[in-house]
Formats: sequence, C-alpha cells, structure tokens
Amino acid sequence: MKNIILLDRSKVMYKGNLHLHTTWSDGRLPAAEVVEAFKAKGYHFIAFSDHDIYTRTEEFNTPDFIAIPATERGELNPVADKNPGYHFGVLDDPTVEPELERYGHLEEFPIPVPWVGDHSPQLLIDELRAHGNLVIFNHPEWHLTRFDDMVKYDRFFAVEIYNHATEWSTSSSYGAAYWDHALQNGKRVFGIASDDSHSHDPNWVIPEYGGGWVRVQAEELTHAGIITSLKKGAYYSSSGPEVYDLRVEDGQLQIQCSPCKFIMFKAFPQRGPFYGNFETGEPLTEASMTIEEDMVYVRVECVDYEGNVAWTNPVFIADLMEKGEKRG
Ligand SMILES: [Zn+2]
Ligand SMILES: [Zn+2]
Repeated sequence: MKNIILLDRSKVMYKGNLHLHTTWSDGRLPAAEVVEAFKAKGYHFIAFSDHDIYTRTEEFNTPDFIAIPATERGELNPVADKNPGYHFGVLDDPTVEPELERYGHLEEFPIPVPWVGDHSPQLLIDELRAHGNLVIFNHPEWHLTRFDDMVKYDRFFAVEIYNHATEWSTSSSYGAAYWDHALQNGKRVFGIASDDSHSHDPNWVIPEYGGGWVRVQAEELTHAGIITSLKKGAYYSSSGPEVYDLRVEDGQLQIQCSPCKFIMFKAFPQRGPFYGNFETGEPLTEASMTIEEDMVYVRVECVDYEGNVAWTNPVFIADLMEKGEKRG
C-alpha cells in the first residue's frame, strides 16, 4: 500500500467561503462590504455565489485575498413555484477548456429553470459544466433532496455537507449522509462546508456568517491554485475544528487536529474506529486507524466540545494500491 500525504502540516492552507450572497441578488450588503466582513475574520478567498447571476471580478483581489468566479443556479423545481427543488453551487474552473463560452460578470440567467422530467437536474449540471464550471449539490437536507438523487445524477463535483445559513435559520444544514450515500454507490465526490450567508451582520450574537468554510492546501492563492487543489480534494471542510495533517503511512490513516472531543473514521463497508476520552474528558489531537484493503473509502470527522465538526475528504482505498498489489 502506498504512503500518501493528503494534508501536510508544513504547508499553507487558505481559508475560504464558497457560498454567500450580496446585493447582486438577495444579500443585504454590497460585495465590497462582504469582502471586508470576511477579511476581518481572517479569510483568504470567497465566491460571490449570487442567485442566478454570475460574478467574475478581480476588483477585490489582493496578494492576500481573492474572489473565485461563481453563481448559485436554482429555481429548478419539480412542482412549479414550490420549493423544494434544486440549487447548484457553480465555480469557474480555469483548468479546463470549456465546450461553450465562459459566463461573464453579472450575466443573468432566466428563472425558473423549466422542469422537463427527471433528467432536468442532469441537464442543468451538464450545461453548467459545458461552460467550464464545477457543480456542487447545495444544501440537500434543506431542499428535501432525495437520497436517490445522489446516485441518479452524475458529474457533480461535491455535496454541500454543511450549510451554515440553513443551520442558523431552520436547523437543517447537514449533508454528510447524502455524501456517504453517493460515496457508497461508487461516486468520487467531495464535501464542501459553507455559509450561504445573506446578512453578514457582525453584531449578531449568534452569527449568520463565518460558520462554515473550507481550508485549501494550495501552491498559491490564485483562482487556478484554489480550484486545482479543490479538484484534487486537497482541503477539508469545517464548522469549527482545524485539521493540521492527514496522511497514509505503513497502512495507517493518521490525522492531527485542534483539540477535539471525538474523532471518528467513517469507513465503508466496515465501520471505522471511534475515539473519545470518555473517563477523563481529555481532548484528542491525533488518531489513526488501520486501513483494510477491502474498504472502499475512509473519511474522518473531528468533533469539538461545542459539537462543531471538521470533515476531511475521503481517501479512496483503490488509489493506495501499488501496481500488481491485490485487493483483499
Ligand atoms: Zn440555495
Ligand atoms: Zn445560497
């Protein structure tokens, strides 16, 4: 089995929020003020994912902060004028040559997207991809997405596994069970935690933004640098804890994190180990598990004392096999 480093403690990890709204759609603050709000919280990048309008601007880019071109494409509802339906996170991928022209700054899209049958979400995913974008299945729990959708639809890049605004507003923010359903059915998709913030009021005692983010290990803080690492899965998602290091060494998956109450290894088809110092309550800052060759994937969740979670991306066990090495 190969030794690999998924997240390297000695390298920089950039903090970003890939889902938020400004006055370009139904957000309360203009883009410039949203930028200041995130800079004040130590973020390195954001995506203006406004509803059904594309944003592509370098106006706010500095050596320490960038905006990734993005939108949130939605209003695709099986029953006209009724939520639930589908919203997709859309991020410009500069590492591909698109079949169709890339979307321009403040290009608006018609809504609602007509429902023409069960393949409508796939048509929309494929259209967004043809224009050179990565597509994320946004807030599946809030949108009452069917688990089966994770298998039925293809070519999406990630599932939004934590959406802070839907935790803040309706306590229905978790998508990790959808993610596992996709992974258990052979999909190679990643997880994304984000804010989906609309107000960005720094004075609220229960904050509406800064609650869900990704930390990306990239060679450089550029649009291409961040997207390249996202596509490799070289990042983790969080609503609180930090992950410092994740690697496979001598058949052991090892993680290092900020002080946590629990560390759980989510393996499939066997369950992985679960750690907590139940008698003493002492925090955990590292853990490891033995990888079994007949496992399909393992991902790790670190939970802090307030119940916030860090989610690593899955390690696909087939990728660890040496040439000619037989799987168990
Ligand atoms: Zn949405
Ligand atoms: Zn949104």
